[in-house]
Amino acid sequence: MAIRRILYADDPRLRQKAKPVKRFGPELKALADDMLETMRAANGLGLAAPQIGILQQLFVAHLPKDEADPQSGKDFVLVNPQIVQASPERVEGVEGCLSIPTWYGRVARAEWVVVKAQNVHGKPVRIKAHGLLARVFQHEIDHLNGVLFVDHIRRPEDVWQELPKEASEKQPAAQVAAAVEQLA
Ligand SMILES: [Zn+2]
Repeated sequence: MAIRRILYADDPRLRQKAKPVKRFGPELKALADDMLETMRAANGLGLAAPQIGILQQLFVAHLPKDEADPQSGKDFVLVNPQIVQASPERVEGVEGCLSIPTWYGRVARAEWVVVKAQNVHGKPVRIKAHGLLARVFQHEIDHLNGVLFVDHIRRPEDVWQELPKEASEKQPAAQVAAAVEQLA
C-alpha cells in the first residue's frame, strides 16, 4: 500500500468527468487500498479517485466509529456509483475537502440517498446511506463528475477558511484561496 499525492483545487484533473471502471482485478484492489490509506493519513472521511489524478469512477469512505451510527467504522469502496434515489428533504451541513484544505462551507444535500454501485470485485451493491454518510457519498460522487463542494455555494457567508495553528507546506493556503475565489 502507498500514500498517493492529493491534488489541489486548481488542478484541471479535478474538473474532468471520471470514466466507468471496466477492469476489476488486483490492480483495482491495490488502487482502492492506496486510496483508503491516503484518506486515513489525511484524516478524511472520503476520497475519490480523481483527487489522486485517476479519472476512474470510484471512491472510498469511512466514518470514524460512533456507537450511535451503525454506518460508522466501516470502509466503503464504491465503484461506478450512481445515486438511484434521494430524499426530497435536503439538510445543510458543513463540508471540507482534502483537495481544498483549510476551506469549509455550508452545503445543502439530500438527507438520504440510495446508491447503486459495484464493490472492488465487481459485485453489484446497493447501499442506503443517511445523514453524514449520505453527505460524504454525495460529495464523492460529485468529484467523479468534476464538481467540488464550493460549486454548491451561493452566498459568500457560506464559505470560510480556518487556518491550522501551524501552517504546513502541504497546505499552500494562498494558492488554494486564489483557486477557491475563482471557483466560487
Ligand atoms: Zn472532496
